[in-house]
Amino acid sequence: MTASNDPRSDLQRRILEAVRRRLKKRQFETWFARASVLRLTEAEVVVGVPNSFQQEWMTKEFTGVVSQAALEITGAPVAARFEVEGGAAPRSADSPAPPPTPHDVPAPVAPAVEPIEPARHGRPAPAAAPVPPPPPDATAPLPLQPHYTFDHFVVGPSNQFAHAVARAVADHPGGENNPLFLYGSVGLGKTHLLQAICHEILRRNPTLRIGYLSCEQFTNEYVSAVQRNATEAFRARLRNVDMLVIDDIHFLANKERTQEEFFHTFNSLYHQRKPIILSSDAAPNEIPTLQERLVSRFRWGVVAQLEPPEVETRMAIVRRKAEQTGLQLPPDVVEFMATSVRNNVRELEGALASIRSRAAIEQRPIDLTLARTALEPLLRQEPTPVSIERITETVAGHFGLKLSDLRSSKRTKSVSQPRQVAMWLARELTSLSLVEIGDYFGGRDHTTVLYAVERTADRVAQHDGLRQTAERLRDRLRAR
Ligand code: ADP
Ligand code: MG
Repeated sequence: MTASNDPRSDLQRRILEAVRRRLKKRQFETWFARASVLRLTEAEVVVGVPNSFQQEWMTKEFTGVVSQAALEITGAPVAARFEVEGGAAPRSADSPAPPPTPHDVPAPVAPAVEPIEPARHGRPAPAAAPVPPPPPDATAPLPLQPHYTFDHFVVGPSNQFAHAVARAVADHPGGENNPLFLYGSVGLGKTHLLQAICHEILRRNPTLRIGYLSCEQFTNEYVSAVQRNATEAFRARLRNVDMLVIDDIHFLANKERTQEEFFHTFNSLYHQRKPIILSSDAAPNEIPTLQERLVSRFRWGVVAQLEPPEVETRMAIVRRKAEQTGLQLPPDVVEFMATSVRNNVRELEGALASIRSRAAIEQRPIDLTLARTALEPLLRQEPTPVSIERITETVAGHFGLKLSDLRSSKRTKSVSQPRQVAMWLARELTSLSLVEIGDYFGGRDHTTVLYAVERTADRVAQHDGLRQTAERLRDRLRAR
């Protein structure tokens, strides 16, 4: 079915368009980006989705929307159904891994062992000592934070998918979502979700042996085992767990021998159908020098991204965290916090702690004035200086445009709107003048820049979708 003039395929495309109109942009992109209408008959419309996790979720959430969309387009009531495309789920723990490629032949061993880096994690972890901690055994309690549970995790569009797959893994460990790879920048809840899975699994099965380590621990223990000639014991221990959870796997970057070792640990557990759960600050293919065979393995299951929460979610998080500590926050304080602390949830928690302690010291109730004073040192650091080059790169990347197009004199809408957004961001985030911004964007007049900035500001105020995009771009630019 290739021809766009095939009336049926045209109907199918229009049904998806009608679905798109009914959903928030983010929702559509999360769930329908990889979906297509496989079949349309008089009785039903069948939407193909990549895996059975998505099938189950979408059946629950979107059956109504799809059949309404089909009704709109075909004029007849049609039942909606979701089907795993190709008839089979992607690789599950039941199906064998692909045969080794020439790539899988172990690489020559690097001449030196990687240096052990000092432990940097705030989480109470037994790794800081030079002597490696005892092996993860069934009797040793895991270093879990008691409140890093699903109940304490606030869900919003930025983390909905990651949360949903984490839940699915906690409910059915080792199913087709194996491995689970969660990634996102710092302070967005990766460790929280990893631990929530552990809590939930241990609640159901307290004797399960979970190997929970930071990648840094993994590295340190491995290096130490090599030094002590004890690699066999190290291997045996990790390959005998029922489930392996490694936090901050991006720590494998540039560590060739540890990658090698991890590769074998991974294979061993994967072939035993043991759940493997990983977190990272970057997508698999963005971890520097990560071996291609690890990149591909990390994608065998589900890869889910955590993005910075949007303002509504930040407000919900502030409210929830305040409630948990019995703190009363007036609504204007909640809003002030959520709009001024944008980068990540950890900073929001820091802001809340500052406000709480100031109120305690001054022995007065929390109001906006107190909140402003308490957060002043934190906010003084904002806005982080952002270069116009980075703005342009980020905008080009987001809209899938070439940098040169954004800076060119092209006036087609697909280029000029993103360019206006870039100009608006440049005005918001840099101290460049209108003339300087105009110069950068192909020598445009300053009045053109002013028009672009004002027009974008209006559009951002009026359109939810654009506001979210613009806010997200701005948050991302400020975050680093
Ligand atoms: P990461 O591992 O991604 O750097 P963490 O999981 O350590 O981030 O999260 C940082 C802090 O923010 C933790 O205290 C965590 O409980 C909290 N946090 C992050 N996301 C959420 C959320 N969606 N709801 C509630 N708390 C969150
Ligand atoms: Mg973490």
